[in-house]
Amino acid sequence: MAIRTAQVLLPAAPLRLTTEEVRLLWSFVHGAIQIPSMRAWMRESLGFCPRHTWGYAVVEIELWEAGVGDRAGHVPFDVSVLYEDLARGLGRRLAQPRGWGRRPDAVLVPARRCLICTQLDSPPKEGFAIGYANSNSAALAAEANPLRHSRRWCSLTADAWAELACSACLGDGPSSPAHDAAAPCRLHLAEAVRAGRAGDGDLAAAALRLTGVADRLAVFVESVTMFGPSAGPADEASWIEALGFFAGWRFPAFLAGLVAPEN
Ligand SMILES: [Zn+2]
Ligand SMILES: [Zn+2]
Repeated sequence: MAIRTAQVLLPAAPLRLTTEEVRLLWSFVHGAIQIPSMRAWMRESLGFCPRHTWGYAVVEIELWEAGVGDRAGHVPFDVSVLYEDLARGLGRRLAQPRGWGRRPDAVLVPARRCLICTQLDSPPKEGFAIGYANSNSAALAAEANPLRHSRRWCSLTADAWAELACSACLGDGPSSPAHDAAAPCRLHLAEAVRAGRAGDGDLAAAALRLTGVADRLAVFVESVTMFGPSAGPADEASWIEALGFFAGWRFPAFLAGLVAPEN
């Protein structure tokens, strides 16, 4: 049965991550993803909730300073590795939405709660509240929250993703992009399927799109490694496309200056 989680779309506003959120996300960047049970959790929970999906990208981009190859750090690498896996897996399931003995929209809904939300709700064990390698989480939060590098990424790649963004996320304002290439995000697609406004054809289109995103993410991830090929604009934007699908588009649109700030 699908579990209701904090699947609340983010407003067009800064995240203002708390010290504890940064501590947990920074620990996750440093290896939790390598643990098989964590990888299984991520697949069941379809990644994190919208806030922690974008929070994960922000923490990695803002705080990870050392790069490889031509990169000088501040690159969404781990988040791209994770969402390539999730996009490919969800793409496969969406190709046969009725083959899993569930309602088709259930494929789009997490079967497990967001890991970070769950950790935030559990009281820290004595002696375990320090950050990764004793890092000062409050200082890291102060460094992450201005969103300097995340803003740059979203702005520089906007030409490659703005037309793909879910129009239900961005609203119907006069400046909102209502392009032919636009497709609903996971949350709005699930809503449309439940309401009978979308059917198997829309799920098949989403499946195709996710597989394409996963392929571009694979190229992008390779490009970040020492001897990887260079990535084109669509590859560089693929992580935003993936996160936009899983967690909504208002936040990157806000960072790129495509929607007005809400507070
Ligand atoms: Zn969460
Ligand atoms: Zn949406």
